[in-house]
Amino acid sequence: MKRYSAFAIAREALRHHTGWERAWRSPPPRAEYDVVIVGAGGHGLATAYYLAKNHGITNVAVVEKGWLGGGNTGRNTTIIRSNYLQPSSMAIFEKSRSLYEDLSQRINYNVMFSPRGTLMLAQTEHELRAWKRTAHANRIAGIDSEMVTPEQIKQIVPIIETGGPRYPILGGLYQARGGTARHDAVAWGYARAASALGVDIIQQCEVTGVDRDANGVTGIQTSEGAIRTRKLCIVVAGNSGVLADMAGFRLPVESVALQALVSEPIKPVMDCVVMANTVHGYMSQSDKGEMVIGGGADGFNNYTQRGSFHHLEETVRALIETFPMISRLKMLRHWGGIVDMTGDRSPIIGTTPVPGIFINCGWGTGGFKAIPGSGWATAEMLADGAPRALAAPFSLDRFTQGRMIDESVAAAVAH
Ligand SMILES: Cc1cc2nc3c(=O)[nH]c(=O)nc-3n(C[C@H](O)[C@H](O)[C@H](O)COP(=O)(O)OP(=O)(O)OC[C@H]3O[C@@H](n4cnc5c(N)ncnc54)[C@H](O)[C@@H]3O)c2cc1C
Repeated sequence: MKRYSAFAIAREALRHHTGWERAWRSPPPRAEYDVVIVGAGGHGLATAYYLAKNHGITNVAVVEKGWLGGGNTGRNTTIIRSNYLQPSSMAIFEKSRSLYEDLSQRINYNVMFSPRGTLMLAQTEHELRAWKRTAHANRIAGIDSEMVTPEQIKQIVPIIETGGPRYPILGGLYQARGGTARHDAVAWGYARAASALGVDIIQQCEVTGVDRDANGVTGIQTSEGAIRTRKLCIVVAGNSGVLADMAGFRLPVESVALQALVSEPIKPVMDCVVMANTVHGYMSQSDKGEMVIGGGADGFNNYTQRGSFHHLEETVRALIETFPMISRLKMLRHWGGIVDMTGDRSPIIGTTPVPGIFINCGWGTGGFKAIPGSGWATAEMLADGAPRALAAPFSLDRFTQGRMIDESVAAAVAH
């Protein structure tokens, strides 16, 4: 694979851009692979890349029913931060955030990581206490994260209304090294880098069944035929329950729609990501100038990847209260993705009741930020057959052993 560089751009400019290669190969599926990963979202692709890069395992297929990155990875609002509450969450999210820092250089693909800072508002006394506790926990873990006053918030985000009518802003939890990245580029970059190392990415190939014998998994049935494997990793976000059902076990996850919208583009007004849990909305500004707005998850289970109007109304109302200057902006598009939520709002990475089948799911509303760290940890698990330290706390059996990793305050709404 030819490297992308300033020199390559100049060379192609001189020969009318006739020399660019396809970013990744699209081979037909082979009959058998050492590892098959279902789902070419960020987590599946990152897992494939780190399997090849860190562990030298390249006889790998990533099987995707649609187009790569077309699930939640290409639908999210791209917030990246690591200031979670529990030690195991902080460890995996900080690993991920730090991998994002030089990801573009490592995979030779510009993922547009922008550490512009993330700010989570406290608008009730309860929230203020919760964020203070998180800030202390973050400090103990060596993660940069601090409490800021309403005055500091006004300096960081001049367009914010701190004395709002219902819920004045009492403070905020700020992570200066948090930020955003371009979601498609993360999927495309990992796909290109994994493909260059020999991984087969097979799009338009839906998994319809899982084959087993007395010793565990033997392969999968797909719309492109059967594929044999003794190691299967299910990484399908909102469809996790469906795949688990095919494999013959159940997961403690619920699939719900989560939605987002963008406004018409405007001049730069905000260079920080702001999340307002109490009034329920969050906003950042894209490089194109659109205000990127995220809302809440639907209160009922479903599998349709689209938004619902009542949530839009609530989200926009919350944000107009927080940023009155957006009240006359036109909204351009809205969309939804299906996220899989666990009871403790933490992911599941681990083995399953079926030998040879591994799972990575349950990232709910906040898994974009985790893509590099999760891929790293899942690749370790697939290489060794069991999770290492980063993934071990997130095993499926924590639900039967009562070892919850409670992030319901830190992760349920505001990513
Ligand atoms: C509106 C919205 C906003 C969000 N905002 C943020 C945010 O700001 N920050 C953050 O950190 N996270 C955010 N998230 C969450 C984040 O997007 C997800 O946690 C993350 O993208 C999950 O990635 P994934 O690779 O696990 O899943 P996905 O990207 O959904 O990939 C799973 C893939 O599996 C494929 N698949 C499913 N079934 C099959 C099958 N039978 N056969 C083959 N392939 C199959 C799907 O087609 C899909 O491409 C948001 C999500 C949404 C919907």
